[in-house]
Amino acid sequence: MGLSETMPRTDFPANTAASAEAEIAFPFVNTYARLPQTFHRRTDPVRVAAPKLIRVNDALARQLGLDPEALRSPAGVEVLAGNRLAAGSEPLAIAYAGHQFGNFVPQLGDGRANLLGEVVGLDGKRYDIQLKGSGPTPFSRRGDGRAALGPVLREYILSEAMAGLGVPSTRALAAVTTGQVVLRETPQPGAVFTRVAASHLRVGTFQYFAARGDVAGLRMLAAYAMARHYPEAGETDRPYAAFLRGVIGRQARLVAQWMNFGFIHGVMNTDNTSISGETIDYGPCAFLEAYEPGKVFSSIDRGGRYAYGNQPNAAHWNLTRLAEALLPLLEEEAGGDEAGMTAAVDALATFAPEYEGARYAGLRRKLGLAVDGNWERDGDAALAEDLLTCMAESRADFTLTFRGLCESAVSSAADEEVRALFADPAAFDAWAVRWRLRLQGESGRPEDHAATMREVNPAFIPRNHFVQEVIEAAEQRKDFSPFEELLRVGAHPFDDQPEHARYTIPARPEQCVRQTFCGT
Ligand code: AMP
Ligand code: MG
Repeated sequence: MGLSETMPRTDFPANTAASAEAEIAFPFVNTYARLPQTFHRRTDPVRVAAPKLIRVNDALARQLGLDPEALRSPAGVEVLAGNRLAAGSEPLAIAYAGHQFGNFVPQLGDGRANLLGEVVGLDGKRYDIQLKGSGPTPFSRRGDGRAALGPVLREYILSEAMAGLGVPSTRALAAVTTGQVVLRETPQPGAVFTRVAASHLRVGTFQYFAARGDVAGLRMLAAYAMARHYPEAGETDRPYAAFLRGVIGRQARLVAQWMNFGFIHGVMNTDNTSISGETIDYGPCAFLEAYEPGKVFSSIDRGGRYAYGNQPNAAHWNLTRLAEALLPLLEEEAGGDEAGMTAAVDALATFAPEYEGARYAGLRRKLGLAVDGNWERDGDAALAEDLLTCMAESRADFTLTFRGLCESAVSSAADEEVRALFADPAAFDAWAVRWRLRLQGESGRPEDHAATMREVNPAFIPRNHFVQEVIEAAEQRKDFSPFEELLRVGAHPFDDQPEHARYTIPARPEQCVRQTFCGT
């Protein structure tokens, strides 16, 4: 197919499906629309009554070669609401399947989203631009194709916060309100979210073709995904096996990052597992406050399938479904059924070492260990695990504990603040003695350790009660200033920002958000 993430901007001719009256032109160079009919349905967004801009992400727009002022203009807002097509758009709903909470659904697909097209950013990488909440599609089943304001603001805040933390994620380009009501448990204001992704390919996209026995489609999808995300796999003797290992590696490292920031995705279905290795489909997701390995926020996750501590297992399960879907290709490539199965099993066996390597390297950095290239010492993993055990027993705040340790690395005088986070401060004291002994084995000045630790232990995460506050202000008073402020703070999570210290404070019991909802 000859496309790659880093392809020069001029490799593809701009498509010609421009609407004559469009005043907004995106530098679209679409490739997914060129794939056969089985991959998507050509579907236009459905008009909304009275679009109003909430926000354009200026920095991201510029990175994509888009003019933020044009997006903010009346014509731009019409485009962001789906009322008008930008020149070069070829809107389509992508077909995919997926395991939802373990149950296979052979056809899901974009039920409330339109891929408008692809642009190549200033970084030379290709990005999808998608409207979410832009009306029914052939995949809507019984859904209304719409999104409510609350979940749109949540996805905006959480995905931008993840980007600020350096976690691979889809991004928020813009959000608008529609002037229409959407009916959920209660009537809610409607909104349309503009999402940017390295691509919208999911494990479920592969399952869609596998479930139909469409090996030609599967082969074409794999070639597309490889060219776009894993060009290096195509250069090996066993491209499909290398591709599978590539996805496994990126997912393993992604989930390790989630774990090390206390992030709970909440709906790790195979249709929400991206092939590019980005965090995608922010639904009832949340960050931990008090550390609790079994923590679940999502109202629909009754069995705790996607609990915080289960996320590596869930990812491995999803990747096993990807391997299964790829089996016909793996068999073809390996020259036999058994050899194909062995390739799948071998690839899946790389998950645990990839995950654990990333998880413990991350934890060591969080604790200021081996930061200047020193090798891991025996006992480092146990030291990290023992802290986590103490934190769980003492319900210590995840983010504040690690941020507090940055100061403690310089002087034990700072321990007072950290130990106060523990229901059993003596347990922390005993652990801190061991940690200090280990820190003494590190070369370099304590101040340098602390500085390095501050680069991986954020002061700010979007705490649930603040996200809730933002949503309530927007829904009840059409006041988006709390939204703007939370976004500004989250863009620099590793800076102290003393003027925004309130956002570091965990929820008081009466503020505590115990459940989050999909809102779909
Ligand atoms: P999600 O939980 O957002 O990942 O969505 C799971 C599936 O349900 C996807 O196929 C969505 O497109 C579809 N879906 C979610 N909400 C709606 C809605 N309001 N209308 C139509 N389809 C929806
Ligand atoms: Mg989804």
